[in-house]
Amino acid sequence: MRRPIMAGNWKMFKTPVETCAFFETFRPLTAGSTHCEIVICPPFVDLNAAIDAAGGAAIEIGGQNMCWANEGAFTGEISGPMLRSVGCRWVLIAHSERRQFFGETNESAAKKIPAALQAGLTPIYCIGESLDQRQSGATESVLDTQFLVGLGKLTAEDFDRVVIAYEPLWAIGTGKVATPEIAADAHRFIRNQARKKFGEAAAEACRILYGGSVKPDNIRGLMAEPEIDGTLVGGASLDPVSFASIVNF
Ligand code: PEP
Repeated sequence: MRRPIMAGNWKMFKTPVETCAFFETFRPLTAGSTHCEIVICPPFVDLNAAIDAAGGAAIEIGGQNMCWANEGAFTGEISGPMLRSVGCRWVLIAHSERRQFFGETNESAAKKIPAALQAGLTPIYCIGESLDQRQSGATESVLDTQFLVGLGKLTAEDFDRVVIAYEPLWAIGTGKVATPEIAADAHRFIRNQARKKFGEAAAEACRILYGGSVKPDNIRGLMAEPEIDGTLVGGASLDPVSFASIVNF
């Protein structure tokens, strides 16, 4: 049985004060939510506030990005050990907005994922096709490359500690959620890649999240698919009531 993960990606929203206000409402609404792991990825400047505000609750905090190096002359970057030192347990890797606006690639993800593992963080590796790629029938080959280049050099033991988020670009921030069937098909394909590369047990244990316009009114249909092991939620995770109702689907 794969335990669901309900993760929120706050993107570039909220100050530390707004972070505290979020948790004041969110914590009581999710106090009994033991059916899943809850993860919130705020902007870097909010990490301390989020970790303090989540303290004692079963809510874990993650970064939205990290550098592959532990330290050095990398202006503007944050490393895995730095995230870990403030209490993060998770990190998003290669979110589509990082790929689209900041030049991240499957190759840079392949450097960051082992660095995250080495720092004791659970990487959530984001993959997914664009609308053009889906319409031209390239979805599987795109997912195949993203999987193999990003994860292909890991050992099976390391792969066990990775979470994958399938986030079709055409569904992110567009209000156009993938149907549960479309998402489940993609998840099956990704799990099959995992099976071929890392074996049956690793594939069955791997948690694959769906992301893209998840809202309180579509979460139940998505989570009814046995292939969907949780969600990565952007916009709807900013509001404590709506994210809590997603968590408590
Ligand atoms: C995301 O940021 O990963 C995301 C899925 O955004 P949204 O839920 O707003 O589509």
